[in-house]
Amino acid sequence: MVIIKSAEEIVIMRKCGKILAAILDRLRTETRPGIKTSQLDIIVAEESEKRGVVPSFKNYRGFPANLCVSVNDEIVHGIPGERILQEGDIVSLDVGAKLNGFHTDAAITVGVGRISKEAEELIAVTEGSLKSGIAQATSGAQIDDISSAIQHYVESKGFSVVREYTGHGVGRDLHEEPPIPNFATGKSLLLRKGMTLAIEPMVNAGDWRTKLAADQWMVLTADGSLSAHFEHTIAVTDNVAEILV
Ligand code: MG
Repeated sequence: MVIIKSAEEIVIMRKCGKILAAILDRLRTETRPGIKTSQLDIIVAEESEKRGVVPSFKNYRGFPANLCVSVNDEIVHGIPGERILQEGDIVSLDVGAKLNGFHTDAAITVGVGRISKEAEELIAVTEGSLKSGIAQATSGAQIDDISSAIQHYVESKGFSVVREYTGHGVGRDLHEEPPIPNFATGKSLLLRKGMTLAIEPMVNAGDWRTKLAADQWMVLTADGSLSAHFEHTIAVTDNVAEILV
């Protein structure tokens, strides 16, 4: 069931989102050659505590960290560890925060030092596709309008959208109804004011197919091509959607 948030609940999510945005800013600054991905995880723990939020991902369905770090051909759900980031890597940082019973969820992909032209383009297209999806997210439109806009944008640039993982409602739970695919499905579901949604295109430079790592968490591109991921939590209104983070 899709949960509509009250104005008061959206106030809490807005506050939570501002804090999460600050945590992401810090992560963006710290993502440089020579840093271990586990250090980024520690930063999320420290910043969350300092700012009075709880990291949403820790222990979610058994996930062992505060942050998902996915490098190069890794799409999502990478577990931070001993890996040291190198010049030229691209790194997807996905993180959630909980405040007063409400979650927000967001992701960015950043380049480590100098990156290839293809990597730069992939990152720009993924971020652009998220913007084009959000532009459709207004009361009275269909979820599929978001999905179609993202797919069209990505494929017009020669990249592909991941099918097996989708965006989602977010709020009292980290993952709520409805799922928000990044490709057209033709299913109809009306967007209504007060829906809070995590829209999150995952875009591969090559084929859209994925594979699961041996740790049963990390998802990689099946063909070894690069992948990028951007995510905002938004609130649907009667006009332009409000970006909460
Ligand atoms: Mg999400």
